Amino acid sequence: MKIVVLKFGGTSVGSISRIKNVARIIISHIKKKYKVIVISSAMSGETNKLVKLTRQISNNFTPSEYDSVVAAGEQISCSLIAGRLNEEGYLSRSWLAWQVPILTAGKYSYSRIVNINKNNITKYLKKGGIPVLAGFQGINSENRITTIGRGGSDASAIMVAKFFKAEKCIIYTDVDGVFSTDPKLAPKAKQIKQISYEEMLEMSSLGAKVMQPHSIQDARLNRVDIEVRSSFNNKPGSLITKKKNISTKNIIRGVSFSKNDSKITLVGVKDRPGVAAAIFEPLYKNSINVDMVVQNISSSKKETDLTFTIKNDDLIKSEKLIKKNKKIKFKKIIIDDKVSKVSIVGVGMITTPGVTFRMFNALAKRNINIQVISTSEIKNISFDR
Ligand code: ADP
Ligand code: ASP
Ligand code: MG
Repeated sequence: MKIVVLKFGGTSVGSISRIKNVARIIISHIKKKYKVIVISSAMSGETNKLVKLTRQISNNFTPSEYDSVVAAGEQISCSLIAGRLNEEGYLSRSWLAWQVPILTAGKYSYSRIVNINKNNITKYLKKGGIPVLAGFQGINSENRITTIGRGGSDASAIMVAKFFKAEKCIIYTDVDGVFSTDPKLAPKAKQIKQISYEEMLEMSSLGAKVMQPHSIQDARLNRVDIEVRSSFNNKPGSLITKKKNISTKNIIRGVSFSKNDSKITLVGVKDRPGVAAAIFEPLYKNSINVDMVVQNISSSKKETDLTFTIKNDDLIKSEKLIKKNKKIKFKKIIIDDKVSKVSIVGVGMITTPGVTFRMFNALAKRNINIQVISTSEIKNISFDR
């Protein structure tokens, strides 16, 4: 069977006319003799509305019930797509994660797909049917509904492509592909024809929303090639693939940014072995992801200032956890929730000197003050201002 997995994001299924358009795209692949498995996100804005409902009930909503609420949007979009395909004369039905089932492991809201039962869907494909699967959701070993992180339908599509050994996995979205930076904010951004998993992972972890970071990890581990393209036109998209397949090696592949970070500085922390672990342990246990960490030794060498960044959403919880942490002593906590992070990404930076200088120079010319810097092999510099 020649299988293609087609994933449609929230904007692509954001209205009835767009859902009709999605059905046309699906049919065009059927006409090319592919067996098509569809993954859909919720209609744009729906998941946010559901999140808001839980917040109106409680700021501490029971995690298992939270996932059950926020996973609900996908049920509607999938059935609308299947219904439209039926209307066009095609055999199609929706599948929620529990009906497949798509098994996940890990914490609620951050689960990961570990297995997908292929039996019923394979039978349906053989009969000529078009299965439309709900993205973003799964069930765990206790038969409870789980979700796999915001934007998680990307990862659903990649795992479905892996388990069904699909020939192609196409992510349909509202831009023409992956760009050097967000094309909606920077009209000069250039579309990238091919990008390695490593570079895409850095770009998306650093803020490029076009692909969910976990989905790229899954694609890289399972060697699933991904085509990202627009559902609004027929222009060629971008290919995310292994390094070996990529012909052009730009020094800098792209610029990512995020505006929803917060910076916490603990001033005058007693400096002794294990202190950083004592600070971060409760954050880790509460699933708070610490991004950049910088530690300065004070001149007395007995105290240190420790600065780290987290997502704005985790700020209130992190502050509480730090203030009630009996294992650490510090003089003052300084919080800044108005920082941005900008990063440049590219494998060519490993062997090219001077990139750091060029970036700092560009910032200095615009009078931008750098607060925190960090680097990795292919992510040159990130900083807050
Ligand atoms: P979907 O609903 O289809 O999953 P998302 O909103 O999650 O779509 O992701 C697509 C959006 O990602 C685009 O509308 C664009 O504004 C944003 N984006 C951010 N960085 C990039 C980038 N480097 N290349 C392409 N799009 C980007
Ligand atoms: N509907 C989910 C979200 O908004 C999943 C997705 O869009 O991929 O996060
Ligand atoms: Mg998305």
